[in-house]
Amino acid sequence: MATTTEAPTVNPDGTLNGHSPEGPLAEKWDNHKFNVKLVNPANKRKFKIIIVGTGLAGASAAATLAELGYEVEAFTFHDTPRRAHSIAAQGGINAAKNYQNDGDSTYRLFYDTIKGGDYRGREANTYRLAQVSTNIIDQMAAQGVPFAREYGGLLANRSFGGAQVSRTFYARGQTGQQLLLGAYQQMMRMVGIGKVKLHTRSEMLELVMKDGEACGIVTRNLVTGQIESHSGHAVVLCTGGYGNVFYLSTNAMSCNVTAAWRAHRKGAFFANPSYTQIHPTCIPAADEFQSKLTLMSESLRNDGRIWVPRSPDETRSADQVPDAERYYFLEEKYPAFGNLVPRDVASRNAKTVVDQGMGVGPLKNGVYLDFADAIQRDGADTIEAKYGNLIQMYERITGEDPYTTPMRIYPATHYTMGGLWVDYNLQTNVPGLYCCGEANFSDHGANRLGASALMQGLADGYFVLPYTIGNSLAPKLGTAPLPTDDEVFVEAENDVKERIARFMNIGGTKSPDYFHRELGKLVWNYIGMERDQNGLEKAISEIRALRDEFWKDLRVLGNTDTLNSSLEKAGRVSDFFELGELMARDALDRAESCGGHFRAESQTPEGEALRDDENFAHVSAWEWVDMDTPWIKHKEELVFEEVELTQRSYK
Ligand SMILES: Cc1cc2nc3c(=O)[nH]c(=O)nc-3n(C[C@H](O)[C@H](O)[C@H](O)COP(=O)(O)OP(=O)(O)OC[C@H]3O[C@@H](n4cnc5c(N)ncnc54)[C@H](O)[C@@H]3O)c2cc1C
Repeated sequence: MATTTEAPTVNPDGTLNGHSPEGPLAEKWDNHKFNVKLVNPANKRKFKIIIVGTGLAGASAAATLAELGYEVEAFTFHDTPRRAHSIAAQGGINAAKNYQNDGDSTYRLFYDTIKGGDYRGREANTYRLAQVSTNIIDQMAAQGVPFAREYGGLLANRSFGGAQVSRTFYARGQTGQQLLLGAYQQMMRMVGIGKVKLHTRSEMLELVMKDGEACGIVTRNLVTGQIESHSGHAVVLCTGGYGNVFYLSTNAMSCNVTAAWRAHRKGAFFANPSYTQIHPTCIPAADEFQSKLTLMSESLRNDGRIWVPRSPDETRSADQVPDAERYYFLEEKYPAFGNLVPRDVASRNAKTVVDQGMGVGPLKNGVYLDFADAIQRDGADTIEAKYGNLIQMYERITGEDPYTTPMRIYPATHYTMGGLWVDYNLQTNVPGLYCCGEANFSDHGANRLGASALMQGLADGYFVLPYTIGNSLAPKLGTAPLPTDDEVFVEAENDVKERIARFMNIGGTKSPDYFHRELGKLVWNYIGMERDQNGLEKAISEIRALRDEFWKDLRVLGNTDTLNSSLEKAGRVSDFFELGELMARDALDRAESCGGHFRAESQTPEGEALRDDENFAHVSAWEWVDMDTPWIKHKEELVFEEVELTQRSYK
């Protein structure tokens, strides 16, 4: 059977070819696996693959590629892969196992995911994700990941937003931690037998290209400041999401966009940057100087009921407000899905009631998530068994006991659906450069359903990349990685050194954190949960003005040859400035609402997101030109052969 993946990625008219294979949706992946080029087992050891990032996507890719026989070099800026942000994932991971017998199937998981993404995802990728979801659970359970179980021994499931079946596998409130430990131990086994060379505390600061292809990276050793070059036959970025462009987010403090951005500046297109997910269940900020927000897992919406007092003037404590005076706004507006509507819908509705003055808490910046009914129905012990660690975490942070006082929650930035553009093979438009996990744009459209990111990261690393990477490696058989004294490496190292010197020499008065906080305010206020044309135009000019100030008045402390978090932060913030501007431009260009991208000018009379399929059923992938020239937009038209595009309704 013919495959379309040989066609050029950029068509003559500038549009992009996502390389979805031919054939019926359910057969595409099998057909494609049969057609991709194979590298025979004895030849695999002749190829070196560079993997940047050792979270779920990177660790699973490194372990699998090494197990297959490839030579792998893996890089992380953390002191151990166990610190990757993946460890923070609480709620669970989706898979279409249908253990509950409640009507789930591969097709239903695919359908929920493509609909949940507001029909802005690529059909073939999303179907493949649903297909391999079941393999992930088998693989992780076999590795010993302690998923929760039913009394009969089968793995347990719970429900997440945007689905009417229970398909979320979990390990209490520590699913990401347990999964990462599983992937990590597999990778470390490969480190132990010498197939993976692990570089910790190494930050990738440049992608190196030769004749239009990716051939290596430049890193900075964060302890010694040493600038080093590394060469390989392929480079795989698994470097996570860019939610920290908002400054306040649920992401780990060190999450950033630098690796993807450096690749973007070298030619990799950045897709849908304005698709960011705002998660409805986070602890509201307590004051202006907070530097981090905490997520309360979506799983809590299984049992917690979300409400606000109907009166904006309410002063009584929650337990004193009678039922008739409570506004269970999600249950009332969306009876079919109730508190389990998708994240974008739940977030916008919480914002609406808070904007209307009905918010709760000292700053009136939250809504209640109340377990009183669930405790009465199932008993406090049951609730404790399901969510104990989350409840404990909430109590430690707020000093309030959720068993007696409802939690207070409010939306916060949580996940980024945008990222480097990749085709069906997870290859960017730069040959030899791949991207997996949250760092790519691929499977979630304009809104990720809960428990789908862990699924995607592990699908990419364990079950997709190990097949598809053969396509670009096989033709390179017999070639050695480029020597690191080649002029392209020397030039890239010099660029990195010059950039570092520039940060150190500004000698201004304000810290990287100051600029990050100010940038975050602009991004949240103008490119956050709701955007409009005026605000976005303002965002572009204000971000540019602040960026100019950054380059004139930045103060970086310390030296370049020691551990220097001020210097690390300066580099990351400077990349966030450019990304922030691109987010605003992308949001401005997309004059429709879809999923996590809500344009105030484009809404239904009921205030729901109003898509414009005629003009915007495409992926926007942006090409970097230079600092003074706006990005060039490339479209990938989204072709829907299987699903009919409808107005999403969760009523
Ligand atoms: C609080 C929270 C809870 C979540 N809960 C869930 C959940 O229950 N279910 C779900 O499906 N999803 C959840 N998510 C989303 C999910 O956790 C992430 O999308 C996913 O873990 C990302 O995995 P990743 O491997 O792509 O990236 P990460 O785990 O972020 O790993 C990135 C790696 O890249 C490295 N890196 C980055 N840049 C560089 C560089 N320049 N040089 C060297 N190394 C670099 C880092 O050191 C790290 O090793 C949650 C997210 C948050 C914020």
